[in-house]
Amino acid sequence: MPRRRLAALACVTALTFTVSTSAGTGRLTPGASTAGAGPVALSHTSAHGPCMIRGAREVQMSEGIPTSTGYTRSTGTVRALTLMIDFSDAPGEGDARDRFREFFPQTREWFRTSSYGRLDYRPETPIPSWLRMPKSFRAYGIGRGAPFEPGYRALVQDLVAAADPKVDFRAYDLLNVLVTPNAGPSALDTVLSVTFAGNPEAPRADGIPVANASFVYSRQDDGSGSYDRTGYRVLPHENGHVFGLPDLYTAEGGGAVGHWDIMSEDWGANNDFLGWHKWKLGWLDAAQVHCVASPGTTEYTLTPLPLAGGSKLVFLPLDGRTGYAVELRTRAGNDEAVCRPGILIYKVDAEVDTGMGPVTVYDSRRDSGGCTRTPNVHAELSDAPFTPGETFRDAGSGITIEVAGVGAGAAGAGVEGGYRVRVTRE
Ligand SMILES: [Zn+2]
Repeated sequence: MPRRRLAALACVTALTFTVSTSAGTGRLTPGASTAGAGPVALSHTSAHGPCMIRGAREVQMSEGIPTSTGYTRSTGTVRALTLMIDFSDAPGEGDARDRFREFFPQTREWFRTSSYGRLDYRPETPIPSWLRMPKSFRAYGIGRGAPFEPGYRALVQDLVAAADPKVDFRAYDLLNVLVTPNAGPSALDTVLSVTFAGNPEAPRADGIPVANASFVYSRQDDGSGSYDRTGYRVLPHENGHVFGLPDLYTAEGGGAVGHWDIMSEDWGANNDFLGWHKWKLGWLDAAQVHCVASPGTTEYTLTPLPLAGGSKLVFLPLDGRTGYAVELRTRAGNDEAVCRPGILIYKVDAEVDTGMGPVTVYDSRRDSGGCTRTPNVHAELSDAPFTPGETFRDAGSGITIEVAGVGAGAAGAGVEGGYRVRVTRE
């Protein structure tokens, strides 16, 4: 349906500033006991060097590794200050804590599952009631894609002033603003939800800039009856931005990555992050990521990405800024819509900006129509994974990726034991 398709475009990443050299790690808490930890505790060895791709030119928000400074740290305990706000022309209805419960504890659980327990996300509501903004919603002039200046600057200044008597902003790593759902248009018509990330020029509170803030509007309710289970998913998407991840959908929608990452599609059935994002966020050990930069043939057994343990990602750099990623996706963990388990292959380009298609999934079955009829899941790419006996080949770069068979894991057979992939570089 056209309405749903438009809505599925999700939020617009609005970034007014990119890399900060002055904001340090970008945490809202200076001086906490994170010595030695950057914004992301990336696990790597010298062998991973060729796979740590970077864009040559500056982009707002890049797939490059490591993530630029200025974003929120994505490992360990992260405290999310969560405020529920309303306006004179959109007064909050009912208990503000019910708005909070639309997103928690699901968002906390989502991050725990996706990170294999490495991100302990703690939402806190020091003000458990509606926080009334001094101006009407209309007066802030907020529409889809609205820049930070001047409307959001005014809104952040006002909410800081309103919350400051009861909130020590230095105690938190990121800010969630859950706007009363009656402010602005229905998400079915226009998604206003937005994140301003890595923004050292944001208004200050208790001496530090509110540099990483996610705003959630309306309800992403497609009317299919799944809102109670899936409506929260806009928040892990928005928080993905505060951790430095770009949007993977493009102006054409989810056709580049489909439902294989929550930065691509955040409506409907649950999904996980790509393995590339998990490495970027510091959720994979160096030993779980295989960087294939030299000629030869090597076989790897990949275990299902949604489940903890084992090898998760093979990466083949093409040059300093692009490469192929290889991972096993199955229906498990946060991946609830997988209809065809198998080896997902995609290209990552660190020089392509957020929303412009920095990741492209290769479809093993082009124009098949896909294997899912689940609402809000990009159908064509749902059967993209390669299965045993199938081969991906890029003749130009001399790369062949063959799915050799099921692994010999503890389960003996079946997808839980992993898939063996044979990778050749000429
Ligand atoms: Zn987004």
